Amino acid sequence: MLNTHYPNLFKPLDLGFTTLRNRIFMASMHARFELLGQAEERAAAFYERRAKGGTALIITGGYSPNPQGVIDEGSHCLNSLDQVPRQQIITDAVHAAGGKIALQILHAGRYAKTDDLVGPSDISSPINPRKVHALSSEEVERTINDYVTCAGLAKMAGFDGVEIMGSEGYLIPTFCAAVTNNRNDKWGGSFKNRIQFPIEIVRRTRAEVGTNFIILYRISALDLVEGGLTGEETQMLARQIETAGANILTTGIGWHESRVPTIAHMVPRGGWRHTAKKIKEAVNIPVAATNRINTPETGEELLRDGDADIVALGRQMLADPDFAIKAEKGQGATINTCIGCNQACLDYIFADKPSSCLVNPIAGNELDIKITKTTRPLKVAVVGGGPAGMSAALTALDCGHGVTLYESANELGGQFNLAKRIPGKEDFQETIRYFSTRLNTGGAIIKLENSPTGNQLLEEGFDHIIVATGVKPRLLKIEGAGRSNVINYIEALTDAKPIGDRVAIVGSGGIGFDVAEYITAIDSKLSDSINAFMQHWGVDMVHTSPGGLIKRDRQATGRSVVMLQRSDSRPGKKLGLTTGWVVRGELTARGVKNITGASYNKITTQGVSITVGDDEQLIEVDTVIVCAGQEPENILYNELVREKATRVSVIGGAKGSNGLDALRAIKEGMDAVLEFN
Ligand code: SF4
Repeated sequence: MLNTHYPNLFKPLDLGFTTLRNRIFMASMHARFELLGQAEERAAAFYERRAKGGTALIITGGYSPNPQGVIDEGSHCLNSLDQVPRQQIITDAVHAAGGKIALQILHAGRYAKTDDLVGPSDISSPINPRKVHALSSEEVERTINDYVTCAGLAKMAGFDGVEIMGSEGYLIPTFCAAVTNNRNDKWGGSFKNRIQFPIEIVRRTRAEVGTNFIILYRISALDLVEGGLTGEETQMLARQIETAGANILTTGIGWHESRVPTIAHMVPRGGWRHTAKKIKEAVNIPVAATNRINTPETGEELLRDGDADIVALGRQMLADPDFAIKAEKGQGATINTCIGCNQACLDYIFADKPSSCLVNPIAGNELDIKITKTTRPLKVAVVGGGPAGMSAALTALDCGHGVTLYESANELGGQFNLAKRIPGKEDFQETIRYFSTRLNTGGAIIKLENSPTGNQLLEEGFDHIIVATGVKPRLLKIEGAGRSNVINYIEALTDAKPIGDRVAIVGSGGIGFDVAEYITAIDSKLSDSINAFMQHWGVDMVHTSPGGLIKRDRQATGRSVVMLQRSDSRPGKKLGLTTGWVVRGELTARGVKNITGASYNKITTQGVSITVGDDEQLIEVDTVIVCAGQEPENILYNELVREKATRVSVIGGAKGSNGLDALRAIKEGMDAVLEFN
């Protein structure tokens, strides 16, 4: 029967020998559970939860087919029979939950962060300077056999299939692209020769595993590097992979060294759908679209329009394991949406930490964090409806407590109401929508424009009070800081006060960068328009150029901006590892200047007087925007302490503004409740 909400998403996918229950896959992501104990048990709990949530097919994080191909020391490698029983822990759990799971085989090639890395040629990657050993012809043969062995072991372990990772700049695409393959044997030279490596892997794997086993091939739909494949070549590769025996083509966008952001928050939803469409035009097997598909509407639309047959969701599956089941029931408003921040997923991985999720701290911690119904329901007050407060209120509600949430403003969201105004961060609104919907439907009492005193709360007889009153802007204490040409970041981001054409931003932390982005935005709707995004980043949408890159088309911003900071460190040092480079590069391209090591002397009608080293200078500007940090807003908490109130928790910015971000706030909100639940 057709699903009335999203008929295309919930059409079963018949592969002949097996049927997948819908068109929603969980795309492969590195989770790095191996950094913690009980890697397989953790992975089993993580994937099982997504299977229970209705996902049709889960694709694991990458397993190398041999020790040379691991991404990091200690990463997964599946190359011997004695590893099979441990992998069965994962497949058994997923199957018991009614799901299917494929193991991804990923050879990192020249991206391996080890000393033993290999590639088709000895050409190092710009993002990994380690020396690359060019595989000999015999070693190429051996590597192909390792892929085949790995697939056979996966089958023995009960996996329903394997995905051969052929994108993102790992080993396989470096064989296919001329820029990274200068071999002169049968694996190099002509395009036909260069693509033999993946074709042979798929062909021999099919011979090994037989017909009733899913082989997915993740094709690099768009390399986004100079000298990558053209669209026509990519289509030829897709056809050959189909002929070699793949059942499904999933797609990957951009090598990791690409200068184009492919998944970060500024990428429009469904922005890469045209690349899946191009592959789909070339083959008869199903094709999956990927990257920044975070709502059922986006997924349904691109299936309906015939751009793809499947949607493969990565980070969205971290944000909400129940994405599929909620969509199936028409409960889209209760989906916790991935906001593309990368803060607790990719940034964690690059910092050698296991992956989790900013908006869903349980992701990856399924063994450790349990939300259980209490046997002693309490009357809980949460004061402050920002990320920390909303998280605490929802956790308390989910645990079965009675919750009253107070918010001084006329809407929930706190600092997220500022963040959502930054071009590209519009999805932050989805987090507010998620918490608001769940709190409202779950029966929380929400009191807006309400700032209770400590005494009022105590008189109300709450069993537990959670103070989440947030932060206030730190004032700049120099001469002239009170002048009319000085405003704070809240006034800037809410357009509460006029901003001139020449601006100095005092403070180059995360908020300073957000403000700089906001006031220099050329087109604040850039992230709404796929065409504008592609033009801006120089992506060839017809994909006739090798790698799919063309000259960037950037307009000049009308405003001149200088960002000042006291420290000598690199501006934006604390921005996310995987998004900071985009933001810094973008602001540089817009002409935003940075001055570090500045002492602030005074502000006059002409601008800001600073001293750098021995040099005193006047930065002539019309407006000074102060982004000099934040201070805890803890009047209420101090009052409760004075009143000797017991059973009080303080979380988020009210607890301390050092190192405050939404990641910490949301996690602290959850933890505060779990401590007394
Ligand atoms: Fe998405 Fe951010 Fe969660 Fe990563 S941390 S899954 S980008 S919301």
